[in-house]
Amino acid sequence: MYGRLGQNLAAGSRSIKAHGLRSSRAGVAGPARRGHELAVSRAPAMDSCQNRVVVSSGLRPRAIRAVVAGTVQGVGFRDAIRRRAEGLDVLGWVRNAGDGSVAVHAEGPPAAIEALIDFLHRGPAGAAVEEVSVDDVPIEGHEQFAVRGVSAGVFVVQQHAASTRHFDLRLELGGAMRSWAVPKGPSLDPSAKRLAIQVADHAIDHNAFEGPTEHGGVVVWDRGHYEQGGRVAWPAALERGHAVFVLHGEKLGGGFVLQRTRPGPPSQWLLLKRRDDEARPGSDIVAEQPASVLSGRTLDELLREGR
Ligand code: MN
Repeated sequence: MYGRLGQNLAAGSRSIKAHGLRSSRAGVAGPARRGHELAVSRAPAMDSCQNRVVVSSGLRPRAIRAVVAGTVQGVGFRDAIRRRAEGLDVLGWVRNAGDGSVAVHAEGPPAAIEALIDFLHRGPAGAAVEEVSVDDVPIEGHEQFAVRGVSAGVFVVQQHAASTRHFDLRLELGGAMRSWAVPKGPSLDPSAKRLAIQVADHAIDHNAFEGPTEHGGVVVWDRGHYEQGGRVAWPAALERGHAVFVLHGEKLGGGFVLQRTRPGPPSQWLLLKRRDDEARPGSDIVAEQPASVLSGRTLDELLREGR
């Protein structure tokens, strides 16, 4: 990736600004030192936007948040950006925003970020870009370039009376339902840390099961689809013990985290609600909304009726 940058070195016009940059980063090791040469070589660009060149110079990674406005949704923009980012070794995410724009977080080598910004101004065929705003932001350490806001599959929360009562949270992944037994159930209160014990994967067709069992019963307490989030791609995020996801259920919504606290088996995790618009501090949703989303029955009613 550094070969591209070398081409710029031929341009070489020095400036006071570039020398100032050199001294301000004197303590930076290795690759960033090469970047000083780049800063000098790109000096002509500073006539148009000094700040941008200072930030983008050097091989130290650059991170941006960009908003692309215009006719940019429904034209394959997100996939086009993802492919371009992957070709440039740029990491981060892209999502469609509620106002019709496309939002991008991108981090990587400065020249690659510049190339991605150039692409944002054009977009794929069918897009009509009207405006691109770019802000430099701190590096977040992404390990993938993800399309955000798209379903990764279904989720279900079943309330289960067996030897103990608990809730089973299941997320579709790789053709099965990854499952955690959550004794107290999920919460929309970000301060509630709910113990979640990973249990065996279940078949997807078990998601709709509701009814009595030999020693108790099951109701479908919530269901919907979910998005994968975080800086690390799934399933690696789960394997490493920190998985961020967004639920779109009938009762549960917004961001959650599963954080492993003890290796298994069975591994122990905490299920946490992230602080977002769908957080409900102080609430207890399993008490407030006990009924099945399939039948309207509570687990108690099902156990009494025995069917
Ligand atoms: Mn269970």
